[in-house]
Amino acid sequence: MERLSRVVGPVATNVHILADERTREAIAIDTATPSLAWIADELAARDWTLKLIVSTHGHWDHIGDNQAVADHTRADIAVHPLDRDRLTDPRPMSAPFPIPPSVPAVELAEGGFVRFGEIQLRILHTPGHTEGSVCLLAEDEGLLYSGDTLFAGGWGRVDLPGGDQDEMAASIARLSGLEDAIQVFPGHGQSTTIGRERAWMELVRDGGRLFRVRRRAYMQGSRALPRM
Ligand SMILES: [Zn+2]
Ligand SMILES: [Zn+2]
Repeated sequence: MERLSRVVGPVATNVHILADERTREAIAIDTATPSLAWIADELAARDWTLKLIVSTHGHWDHIGDNQAVADHTRADIAVHPLDRDRLTDPRPMSAPFPIPPSVPAVELAEGGFVRFGEIQLRILHTPGHTEGSVCLLAEDEGLLYSGDTLFAGGWGRVDLPGGDQDEMAASIARLSGLEDAIQVFPGHGQSTTIGRERAWMELVRDGGRLFRVRRRAYMQGSRALPRM
């Protein structure tokens, strides 16, 4: 699997393009504003065809160029059904520019797969940041695209629209069951591995809930950007 990524927009969203080099079929993950030009250039330079635009969840900083990329590439847009209305009826919160609506044609459902070429990514429904947040697991490559659910050093915010701390605790507990070697690519910030995050994830799992101290330390310490 070929992988490209770029940090985009006012809250530094990680935008990804993944491709099967053999069939030249690609997907884009989280088309933040403005990522159309970058995505279009990379596809053209490599003669890749975009098959799907995947939104890990429906917050404005992950969906702003969905419709523009769809119009340019004719790729379908995919999101979990519980976040669908965040795409069709965007709630821009603190967005510094308008967020155009986009119309998903594909549902990301628990247990399903995103397929392009001979590559498949398993869909994990991991609510907590929003109702319909998902992670995408490339099992063969050992990669997890975790959206705003799991970051290097902590979990995603639960105080934004759609957030739920009990659901987040359950999602983190679930992800703690993945193998240490899996490399994690969050929606913002640096990549990490399950092994590097395991200690605090297991505290959440064993406690059955998020814990305050770690979160406070995290917010005052390494947390440099708002994670919308
Ligand atoms: Zn975000
Ligand atoms: Zn978010």
